[in-house]
Amino acid sequence: MRSVLTSLLSILSLASPALAGDIRLSQPIDCTLGSDCYIQNYVDTDPSSAAQDFTCGALTYNGHKGVDFALPTQADMLKPVNVLASAAGRVVATRDGMADISQKSPNAPNVSGVECGNGLVLDHGGGWTTQYCHMKRGSLIVKQGDQIERGAPLGQVGLSGRTEFPHVHIVARKDGKVIDPFNPFASKTSNACTTTPTDSLWDQPIAYQSTSLLQVGIASSEPEYAAIKAGTVLVDSLPVSSPALVVYGFAFGGQTNDIMRLTLRGPKGIVAQRDVTSTKNQAQFFNATGRKSSQSWPEGTYEAQVEIERNGIVISSMSHQIDLIP
Ligand SMILES: [Zn+2]
Repeated sequence: MRSVLTSLLSILSLASPALAGDIRLSQPIDCTLGSDCYIQNYVDTDPSSAAQDFTCGALTYNGHKGVDFALPTQADMLKPVNVLASAAGRVVATRDGMADISQKSPNAPNVSGVECGNGLVLDHGGGWTTQYCHMKRGSLIVKQGDQIERGAPLGQVGLSGRTEFPHVHIVARKDGKVIDPFNPFASKTSNACTTTPTDSLWDQPIAYQSTSLLQVGIASSEPEYAAIKAGTVLVDSLPVSSPALVVYGFAFGGQTNDIMRLTLRGPKGIVAQRDVTSTKNQAQFFNATGRKSSQSWPEGTYEAQVEIERNGIVISSMSHQIDLIP
């Protein structure tokens, strides 16, 4: 009986396309996409010096080999958020000890040759490997030779290596060749992104999100972009003596002609409002508007409301309330 089953299986595997069914990957990060994490970049499917993701969209850059599962701000790393094994496998390489510093920082280290930062490689057998990059220093809890179950924690999301935002960059390879988990059958010799993928390597469907607000808030002065990305601007209250009230919206995946509509309402109505039209595609971006006052603001609840509109349709909206207190 066993020999019959074995020969049937070998026929099935011969009949199936090159990659189908070889491996299924689960989400490599312990968070909810579209809620407390998002995908900033996909595999570059364009063999030229241009770049396109598997949907022909702009969420990638030239030569990007992995998928970036990202946290909205650096403060979100502190929760902490675990990196998870996408499939069962054996640890074949690890690195730890590199600092968590954005490459945008003035004291960023030279990461040439160690772009992955802290991370590891899992061997799943059958020629398949997954690599996990940019993990938090000191967070790796696996070592070379360990056998790991699917979904097991490997360490935490960090900011090590060549990165400007906290994320895990996962690369899937078959026999050493990079495979896009979202479109494993795409040809790498021509741009195949116009074909809707009929299959993916994910064990659960992962929706493509081109654009979304990441954080909306109210500040007492125009915030620095670095502080927004660090996650240190968001507050739940401000003093009524604040010199200004500023609504800001931080987002990813901005496209030319998108409109970001910023509104700040207080107990007596609208305090500030502004529409900002994008003049280019932007991986991440923020806009702000506000009003100054030399007098105290009325006490009470203030709400920031931000929308992104594309071709007349609101594609993302987010709000945040704070209390103005004496
Ligand atoms: Zn990446």
